[in-house]
Amino acid sequence: MALSIVEGCVNCWACSVLCPSDAIYMVDAHFIIDQKKCAECNGEYADAQCASICPVEGAIVDATGQAINPPGSLTGIVPEMMEKTRAEIQAR
Ligand code: SF4
Ligand code: SF4
Repeated sequence: MALSIVEGCVNCWACSVLCPSDAIYMVDAHFIIDQKKCAECNGEYADAQCASICPVEGAIVDATGQAINPPGSLTGIVPEMMEKTRAEIQAR
């Protein structure tokens, strides 16, 4: 099983230097996780190091597509409140 970097990644480089498997690198100006190398940090750390440092909610997902840091988990902002505020701002 391996994690993946999806849309939302801002190419901050933080995860790539932490990966114990050297599984994260840039391809065509975007970071990717090598599916053959990533072992989800099993045997190395209790938590996936890439997801624990990533500042962007939803940028890293597991093999089922579930975000390791789902909306609201880092900002503390309830997703429904974020949507409501965004809609209010766009309506101005
Ligand atoms: S889960 Fe661990 S091994 Fe996999 S890419 Fe992230 S830091 Fe590397
Ligand atoms: S830490 Fe997150 S935002 Fe930064 S490069 Fe890695 S996946 Fe992208």
